[in-house]
Amino acid sequence: MTTLAAVSPGEEVLFPDTTYDTVRPFAERFLAGLGIASRYYDPMIGAGLAEVLDERTRLVWVESPGSMTMEVQDVPAIAAAAHARGAMVAADNTWATPLRFKALAHGVDFSVCALSKYVAGHSDVMMGSVSVADVALYRKLKDYSRFLGLGVSADESSLVLRGLETLAIRMDRAEQSARRLVDWVVAQPGVAEVRFPQLATSPGHALWRRDFTGGAGLFSVFLEEWTRPAVAEAVESLQLFAIGASWGGTRSLAAVLDRPPLRTVAPPAHTGPVVRFSIGLEDPEDLLRDLTQAFARLTVPGQGGGAQRRA
Ligand SMILES: *Cc1c(COP(=O)(O)O)cnc(C)c1O
Repeated sequence: MTTLAAVSPGEEVLFPDTTYDTVRPFAERFLAGLGIASRYYDPMIGAGLAEVLDERTRLVWVESPGSMTMEVQDVPAIAAAAHARGAMVAADNTWATPLRFKALAHGVDFSVCALSKYVAGHSDVMMGSVSVADVALYRKLKDYSRFLGLGVSADESSLVLRGLETLAIRMDRAEQSARRLVDWVVAQPGVAEVRFPQLATSPGHALWRRDFTGGAGLFSVFLEEWTRPAVAEAVESLQLFAIGASWGGTRSLAAVLDRPPLRTVAPPAHTGPVVRFSIGLEDPEDLLRDLTQAFARLTVPGQGGGAQRRA
């Protein structure tokens, strides 16, 4: 709805290379048919976006941190570059929610949030929000929501409003538990890297510290290639983590990517298996016990213990 309200046929929209994966088919199979062009840019480009923009660019999306690979973007620099060329900026602010990143205060024109995730918080509602500071944009969005037939029920709205009341304490708990688990996971054999914006080694960590007021309970574990044959079984052995992608609920989830996430501008950060964890509200020590038994299964069959694995 945001893209359609902001961009006209003959114009162009830019997406970060790390965009939520439903966006690429939407751009190729839907926007292109309407005569709206799309291109992708390196999420870490910052002020360098000025070199990518052209006369047709009408809207620049940011998604910070990026899907699966968690790069935190320099949103103020990107917004300044876009505005200097007359383009608007939309943020997918689902990870941070408006509680942890004030997108509109960082130069964004449209702040979009999948309320289905942390805001509703119980994995039982699908709803989204778009927030704007400009009344003319608000009127345009309101029109487009009617034209597209988008509506929400009173029951769903009441669940989202109830979720808002506990959003802060749920996110605090999920983040604290995730920090505890990440500290353990980074040191495990088979782990090449952990992507978690709160971790000093995660790309854009300094930007996260500068611009965000907190974090979330989502992290991606990049595993070494040798773990591949054992990853599915290890993840399926988890007792407290369900397998699933729609994070932000009370229960912890694990999602396995056995192919590298699709990137067309910057090369994939990692080509081994990736497991993304969403930490819920369970006791973190219980979650740690569950992860401990699952990581123990990454031993390559027939190769024995850690020393041989490293050899
Ligand atoms: C889940 C998600 C969406 C889509 O939300 P739904 O409510 O599930 O359609 C969009 N962006 C991001 C970053 C998400 O994680």
